[in-house]
Amino acid sequence: MHSTQLPEYDVIVLGTGFAGNCQVRHLLLKIPGIRVALIDPCLEEDLEENFKPGESMIEIGTLFLCKELGLYDYVVENHLPRAGSNFHWPKDPTQTQTTDDHYHIWCNRQPELDSTQINSARFEQDLLRMNKEMGAGFFKGRIVDVDLTPGDVLKTVYVQLGNEKITLKTKHIIDSAGRQFIVGHKTNNLLFEPENHDGVNAGSAWVYVKNVDRDLFHNGYDPYGATCSHYYATNHWFGYGHWLWIIPTDKYTQEISIGVIHHHDVIPTSDINTQEKFYAFLKANHTNLYNLVCSGENVKFYYLPSITHTSKVMFSPDNWYVLGDAACCFDIFYASGTTMISFSIESITEIIRAKLAGEVDAEEKRSAYNNFCVAYARQANHLMKHRAQQLGHASVMSWRIYLEQMWIFGLTLPIYVGKWFLDPQYIRAYLNQAPSVQRVISDVYEELNKLVDKGVNIGLMDIYRADQLFGDYTPVKPQDDYLENAKFEPKHCNVFASLKQTYFYTAILYILLQWKGFGFLGVLAPRHLYNFFSLLKGALETAARERVYLQQTKHIPTNTEVAKMRQEFKNYRYQSQF
Ligand SMILES: Cc1cc2nc3c(=O)[nH]c(=O)nc-3n(C[C@H](O)[C@H](O)[C@H](O)COP(=O)(O)OP(=O)(O)OC[C@H]3O[C@@H](n4cnc5c(N)ncnc54)[C@H](O)[C@@H]3O)c2cc1C
Repeated sequence: MHSTQLPEYDVIVLGTGFAGNCQVRHLLLKIPGIRVALIDPCLEEDLEENFKPGESMIEIGTLFLCKELGLYDYVVENHLPRAGSNFHWPKDPTQTQTTDDHYHIWCNRQPELDSTQINSARFEQDLLRMNKEMGAGFFKGRIVDVDLTPGDVLKTVYVQLGNEKITLKTKHIIDSAGRQFIVGHKTNNLLFEPENHDGVNAGSAWVYVKNVDRDLFHNGYDPYGATCSHYYATNHWFGYGHWLWIIPTDKYTQEISIGVIHHHDVIPTSDINTQEKFYAFLKANHTNLYNLVCSGENVKFYYLPSITHTSKVMFSPDNWYVLGDAACCFDIFYASGTTMISFSIESITEIIRAKLAGEVDAEEKRSAYNNFCVAYARQANHLMKHRAQQLGHASVMSWRIYLEQMWIFGLTLPIYVGKWFLDPQYIRAYLNQAPSVQRVISDVYEELNKLVDKGVNIGLMDIYRADQLFGDYTPVKPQDDYLENAKFEPKHCNVFASLKQTYFYTAILYILLQWKGFGFLGVLAPRHLYNFFSLLKGALETAARERVYLQQTKHIPTNTEVAKMRQEFKNYRYQSQF
């Protein structure tokens, strides 16, 4: 064995999974001339056999892939569309033979913003090829060690390439090597214990199956219910202490993944950690899904005993960064994995761009973005608090999903669309306000637990319908005209309009929940009145901030390119061809 010294890079990315590949493309697109290298033991052709969880993406992940990475056409041509999320609870847990044996929340129309479900192995294979063509260096090897020197001192990456050991030098290291935790272990940066994740302690078992008889799920005929496919949604199925997904993962082989997230205090690992046990679990609790997997060709089974972990630091002042599963992973109910990756990648690129350019505020950005992403990870985990008790209760869970979607669509999505997460000043305001919102949501979770204990039914809340609160409100409807007027430049999307509405309708939902669940006493309880008025206060304060924002931006066009085109169009004169 001998050691070889190779060129110096601006950035070395460890691992070319979903996160690492997306990061490299983003760096190459945003920072002309940047010198980037990727290292992974897998070549493109190896990835074919490297089964990965199918990535169901919500709107943020899809906007990131398509708009930010410029992959609209590629995604349409090679991957599957996603028609929102559907949710199903058995009417009687002992009778789950068919889909009709369930109560549903069906997505009833194609959502305004596209989302997608990608075949991860194909995506990574294609992106690695594109990255190489764009000039990224690639080393097929295994990282054996890294030297994480302080500050701007060059870092060293030690790579095993077959029998050869090479040493690479770089200014920045991004660890996206998944659950190898190369940087995480070296820096004692990881938090695995459930007490660091709001008590969430869950594992996952899943299978890939090809060519299933999809009529067993749905025959596609629903002329009075919906204007979109039910099959090409992310379908969620519930039971006590667990939920399951069905995600179509491949357009060519008709492959799907079916998996469960199970809470250990209800379903221990030993009950579900082999394919036989998983199938027996399906047969006993979700016969329709058992029939579905048995109708196709089983491809592969996986088990992961612990799904959640997070990191204390995401982006270090010492120029190392943790990304994707190397940084954190959550219960995948809301596809927070790819949302987190989208926020992280754009943050990392901006930090590296500012540092390479020697900008004075680079460290301020690094610190703010790190705080935002650490907080986002905490919130994504918080959304899973007390779930084990509530998942199987259709009424309670439907209210919970409604509330959570209000904040995902009403705040997280506009923050992403308007790139507000790249504005340190906005991040400071966001971090100040987040604990009070989290406190109210935590209180709601506690109250939902009481409703589960009482076994009451307070109705089924449907996130897609506009006839449940008032003013035609639905959580999924944009509260600002950022789509119709293409407000995609930084800070053009009016995040305050969405936040104001979200506070206001959360206050309405909150008081309605107290009324339906606990009657007059619930509405008038001091704690509940305090929460109600603090939500209204949040709405009023945000309205004040919105006025300032509108004043400051009144001369800024909603979209600069459209404004320019309209200006040019003043010179347009029709010229007859004849
Ligand atoms: C069961 C399950 C289902 C999920 N489904 C979804 C979903 O539907 N939607 C969603 O948003 N998120 C989902 N997630 C979260 C998901 O994990 C992430 O979104 C994403 O796949 C993480 O990708 P990654 O690139 O960080 O890690 P990985 O895909 O694990 O990639 C790591 C890469 O590092 C390489 N590597 C490892 N060790 C080394 C080394 N020593 N040297 C060099 N390279 C190395 C590997 O070969 C690999 O290519 C799911 C997670 C699980 C566990």
